[in-house]
Amino acid sequence: MNFRTPVGTNDILPPSSRVWSYVIDHFSRMCVRTNYDLIITPIFEESGVFQRAVGVDNDVVRKEMYQFQDRSGRDYSLRPEQTASIVRSYVESRPKYLPWKVYYWGPMFRYERPQAGRYRQFYQLGLEAFGSSDPSLDAEIISLAWDFLVDLGLSDLELRLNSLGDEACRPGYVADLTKFLDSVKDKLCGAHQDSYQRNPLRVLDCKTEACLEATQDAPFQRDFLCEDCRDHFKSVLELLDRFAISYRQDSRLVRGLDYYNRTTFEICSTSLESAQNAIGGGGRYDGLVRSLGGPDTPAIGFSIGLERLVSCLENQSPVVIGRAHQSHEPIIFLIDVTSSGKASQVFRDLSRSGINVARDYGDRSMKAQFKAADRSGAWVAVIIGDDELSRNSATIRALRDQEKLRALLQVSVREKYDGRSCGRQDELESSGQVEIDISDIEVFFNKVFIPKFSRHISLASQ
Ligand code: AMP
Repeated sequence: MNFRTPVGTNDILPPSSRVWSYVIDHFSRMCVRTNYDLIITPIFEESGVFQRAVGVDNDVVRKEMYQFQDRSGRDYSLRPEQTASIVRSYVESRPKYLPWKVYYWGPMFRYERPQAGRYRQFYQLGLEAFGSSDPSLDAEIISLAWDFLVDLGLSDLELRLNSLGDEACRPGYVADLTKFLDSVKDKLCGAHQDSYQRNPLRVLDCKTEACLEATQDAPFQRDFLCEDCRDHFKSVLELLDRFAISYRQDSRLVRGLDYYNRTTFEICSTSLESAQNAIGGGGRYDGLVRSLGGPDTPAIGFSIGLERLVSCLENQSPVVIGRAHQSHEPIIFLIDVTSSGKASQVFRDLSRSGINVARDYGDRSMKAQFKAADRSGAWVAVIIGDDELSRNSATIRALRDQEKLRALLQVSVREKYDGRSCGRQDELESSGQVEIDISDIEVFFNKVFIPKFSRHISLASQ
């Protein structure tokens, strides 16, 4: 019997996983630069964490949670999103200093109908900041999400923004909206005829013709914002203007989860199919810490779906995809036909010195090892044969971009040995190979060859 991945899940395999690793690395570096620290929480929590945070009337909790009892009968759920777990963690650990700024990436689980762009296990990366209601934090969060995507080479992005008000102005608005929906309920789509009273805001977000038409004259939150919320939103927009980030205000943007208030936003890619074109989004959730048992603490965050992001990059960012692959390619392939254990030692030394290096195993023939070297995508081969071993040296041969790399190798060897010939250098000159002392190998690559090689590569990819 052959086992397969569970329905709605995927293996993320090489070489595509190189793009994932590159994107996560890029994200982590951006977060660290802006003072966010990594947080890792369990992938399952007491179900109450999500029921309380996301809301029991929400589809994510009502229909999509992977809820189970463990062997002791405890009620747990695999996390459908990360914010609720991080709030639970904030309340439990009570950080001393605010703002508390954290970032994450990892798997989320929703029992959805699997389709392109919608999976049952999917990955999100995101960040959350606790402890300030300053609109400059909203602008920081939105600009981080935006800059992250733009810096990855995406250009067909649209930022949509809305303010959902707060506990002072939202209840009045929701009451008005519900009254309005009562008056048009027969015209709503089937699903919302049943659910609009439980979750009236979601009707505004519904993409069906029926709901769009029926809510054309619906009241919108923007006309109900209290003065504080209006000022807050205005300051956020002014900062985005100052950053020259363009956006569209969208009164229908209510986001799926119940905990949002004030600023909400979504970033869509016009190249994705319209039903699943949101790459990510987020917003404020100033009341959530309190509702999970903590002190009043304003907070804001965003999350971005990795599957959708990687699919956009594959369609639009050949340079970034190229860079992602390149960052994982071996520079050196070690070929050792001496059975002396030398390869193991050189492999360890070179990789620990920071160079991507690959090798073969099992004492195979030189020919078989060269084939493996070609398949690996390595740029140069470092060859240790009996001759070399007797002189404690290694021969280096270009495997790709032969003409350019041979020239770079020769310039590097001349520089390293100050114009003196080393080993069989004169003999090797015509074949474009070079020879170096094994004891020089780390310095030769790290200090002499790789800096020149990196310049060559980056010029070539421009
Ligand atoms: P949400 O937490 O629903 O606001 O989703 C945030 C982002 O996560 C979305 O914009 C998608 O990129 C991604 N996402 C949400 N649900 C799924 C899913 N079932 N499969 C793949 N990606 C998803």
